[in-house]
Amino acid sequence: MASAVNMNQIRTIDPDDERAFMDAIEKWVEGEVKPVVMEHDHGDIWPEKLVAQMAEMGLFGATIGEEYGGLGLPATTYAKIIAYVSSYWMAITGIVNSHLIMAAAVERFGTEEQKSKWLPKFASGEIRGGLALTEPNAGTDLQAIRTVATRDGDDYVINGTKTWISNGIKGECFALLVKTNPKAEPRYQA
Ligand SMILES: Cc1cc2nc3c(=O)[nH]c(=O)nc-3n(C[C@H](O)[C@H](O)[C@H](O)COP(=O)(O)OP(=O)(O)OC[C@H]3O[C@@H](n4cnc5c(N)ncnc54)[C@H](O)[C@@H]3O)c2cc1C
Repeated sequence: MASAVNMNQIRTIDPDDERAFMDAIEKWVEGEVKPVVMEHDHGDIWPEKLVAQMAEMGLFGATIGEEYGGLGLPATTYAKIIAYVSSYWMAITGIVNSHLIMAAAVERFGTEEQKSKWLPKFASGEIRGGLALTEPNAGTDLQAIRTVATRDGDDYVINGTKTWISNGIKGECFALLVKTNPKAEPRYQA
């Protein structure tokens, strides 16, 4: 559908393809999302069926490159999808958004081995996750985080507490923000 390109290049999509994709999203929102929003939101119910449908539509791979099984959509198309779904139920978009930020971190900075191992599973929704930045003492000021990763041979031992993590209960894989040197100055060098 969209052209597969380097993450640093601008992706494009045929306007007819974009319209067709938006039509499918609008139909899904109308038929599946709108009727259950109140019940789920007020009952604090995890939308299992909708998550499965989002996976079927490829949304968990919306911005992941086609070479890794994603849709490779441009950010502009993705923004349109999220704006539309959010106008009916914002909460459900967090399930996909934080997952795709985690996936983008792997796609931009991972080794080829990590990309080919994880991205197809992220794209299909087989493995879902998110982004673990916020701590009880650090929200906007992320340089104040206290979670520390200490090297132990080939591993890191992590000590700290995260909070407010979208997909935290239902997710399996998270990009975790830590400090390896909590005494570093300036703090962002840790
Ligand atoms: C629904 C939901 C989902 C979330 N999901 C995630 C997630 O998946 N992963 C994750 O890591 N976190 C997540 N968060 C946490 C979210 O990112 C933090 O709440 C956010 O970073 C703000 O931090 P805080 O709540 O501690 O507010 P604070 O940082 O205490 O900010 C409070 C207010 O002060 C303002 N403010 C702060 N610093 C300044 C400044 N220097 N100048 C001017 N104004 C300032 C802020 O704009 C805000 O209005 C989620 C939060 C919510 C509500």
